[in-house]
Formats: sequence, structure tokens, C-alpha cells
Amino acid sequence: MAVKKITPVYVEFIPDTIEEGKLYISEVYQTAIHKCCCGCGEEVVTPLSPVDWQLKKDMNSVSLRPSIGNWNYRCKSHYFITNNRVIWANRFTQRRIANIQTKDRFDKQNYIASKNKQEVNSLPDRDSWLLKLWRFIKSFFRN
Ligand SMILES: [Zn+2]
Repeated sequence: MAVKKITPVYVEFIPDTIEEGKLYISEVYQTAIHKCCCGCGEEVVTPLSPVDWQLKKDMNSVSLRPSIGNWNYRCKSHYFITNNRVIWANRFTQRRIANIQTKDRFDKQNYIASKNKQEVNSLPDRDSWLLKLWRFIKSFFRN
């Protein structure tokens, strides 16, 4: 049975038994999981991060962006979760899927690269500190 509506369930740890029609969200571990809405029983894990999925929360409803594309499963279902509703989308062709997977990988690499760069930039700049000290010391000998 295809699921038309999901209920968000906020958890710390993902439970062992995933019930159909529920979206388990662990904000601590930044991940969400649900059973594929087509009813095939496959569990779909959606990591929550700027390059994976973004969770939009309203009062009692949630939306996940981008869409859920279960191309690794036999059902190949593709749908959006918008305000707790499951909105079915067109199936992608094999070629389209390959394109998206390539783009995802690319985005992820860029994201990781930019994160690493930020970390490097935020390290204290030891060399320039030494240089300043050296200039300071030198200034005493100028006269
Ligand atoms: Zn399915």
C-alpha cells in the first residue's frame, strides 16, 4: 500500500522497528529514516546536511528537500515529502539518475573541500605572528 501521509517522529536514536508512514528524525545525529512510501518495505535513510537533505519544520508538519529518489531500490520510486504529504513525482530515467548521482558526488566533494579550507583558515597564523614579533624586536635596533 502506498503511503500518502507521513507523521514526523522525533527521536534521539533511530528505533529498530521502522513503522510505515512515519518519518523518524534524529536531530542529534542529523539523520532521518522512513520506509519507502510505495509500500515496498525498504528503509530509506536521508542524512540531514546542506548537501544531503534539508528538513523544514512547521508546527506539526515537516518537508524534506530535495525529493526522495529511491533509485537504488527495485521500486525506483520518486516522491516529495511536503507538509507531511507524500507527493509522487515522475520516475527518472536511468540516464537522469546517473547525472544526479554524479552531481551529488561533485557537490559533496566541493562541500568537503570548502569545509577543510575553512578549518585551515581558522588555524592561528603562527608565521605571521612570528613575523610581527621579529619586526617588533627589529624596531628596537633601528636607532
Ligand atoms: Zn519502494
